[in-house]
Amino acid sequence: MIILRKDATQAQINAIIGAVGHYGLSTLLVVGATATTLQLIGEEPTDLETFLGGMPGVEEYRPVNLPYKLISRKHHPEYGMNGASKIISVGGVDFGGEKPVIIAGPCTVYNEKQVMETARIAKECGADMLRGGAFKPRTNPHTFRGIGEDGLKMLAEARAETGLPFVTEALSVRDVELVAGYADMIQLGTRNSQNQDLLLEAGRSGKPILLKRGYWQTIEEWLQSAEWVASTGNLEIVLTERGIRTLSNPTGGRFSLDVQAFVTVRTLTYLPVIGDPSHSAGKWQLVPGNARASLAAGAHGLELDIMRQEEQGTIEFVVNGDTRHAGFVDYAQGLRPNVFAPLMVQLREKYATVEPLPAIT
Ligand code: PEP
Ligand code: MN
Repeated sequence: MIILRKDATQAQINAIIGAVGHYGLSTLLVVGATATTLQLIGEEPTDLETFLGGMPGVEEYRPVNLPYKLISRKHHPEYGMNGASKIISVGGVDFGGEKPVIIAGPCTVYNEKQVMETARIAKECGADMLRGGAFKPRTNPHTFRGIGEDGLKMLAEARAETGLPFVTEALSVRDVELVAGYADMIQLGTRNSQNQDLLLEAGRSGKPILLKRGYWQTIEEWLQSAEWVASTGNLEIVLTERGIRTLSNPTGGRFSLDVQAFVTVRTLTYLPVIGDPSHSAGKWQLVPGNARASLAAGAHGLELDIMRQEEQGTIEFVVNGDTRHAGFVDYAQGLRPNVFAPLMVQLREKYATVEPLPAIT
């Protein structure tokens, strides 16, 4: 990383970029509140310090010894060490600021009425953003996979009516362009957290990315996944802790929400991090506790699965003009309005602002 002098001219910056280019390094200019830096992408040669030492415009060269240098807090003095995050703006909603961002919506999109009604519930209860999957990652190939582009259109209609921007998943490289054409933010799911081609393609779309933690990933591995996105020059990334595999599985929970991850991640990176209390829980009864725990433990927001009060059995969807029925994806974890509405009131009251971090030493 090169910290630029405050009075560095554009010509000097261009000369530095050209010079490191000879070493095969590309650069990312990051303008922060307290400093402007040139982040180096690629392997840094050992003689770079001597080489840069004499160049006008260079304040300091700091070799970076972390595998996730582009997104690390340590190497981004512009964010300071008091836990302040980069603000990621998605359709007018700011992640990483003072207020926790709450995303809510159906796990999966089936039909227009279902999406619109669920979006209205999200809006009426005060959610900031809408979620919903049109391309669904499934464990079993015999199960419903989502309705694809028709679902994206339904989400766009729900956005038009409610004014809520939406996030939806791109399941493969093949989907990215299509999803980017409709969505305000692209979700990359737990199963794809280490799919480097997809991380790159989604990054290149320039859209904000919601990056879930792989349920097997250490925090360092998760941050390196974010680093793949960042390496495209797209730093609009919101990390999402969605539960990891532990020993609680047989006793009810689907995964275990790693509540320690919020402070740890905020210490290691300047990117905002939210919690997904629904996918970590797998059961609606566990969701309110996980939601409160996430915000109490320092999350910048939440992503919640919700459903209509009357949802049960199967639901209608249309494919190629044929009306069919499917079971609900993640049925057991969706919050119905009788639980979601009071929970929202409580969360907004108790956690009106994002928890400050303990001082970082
Ligand atoms: C989802 O949010 O719909 C989803 C499939 O999440 P995850 O990738 O965390 O399982
Ligand atoms: Mn789901």
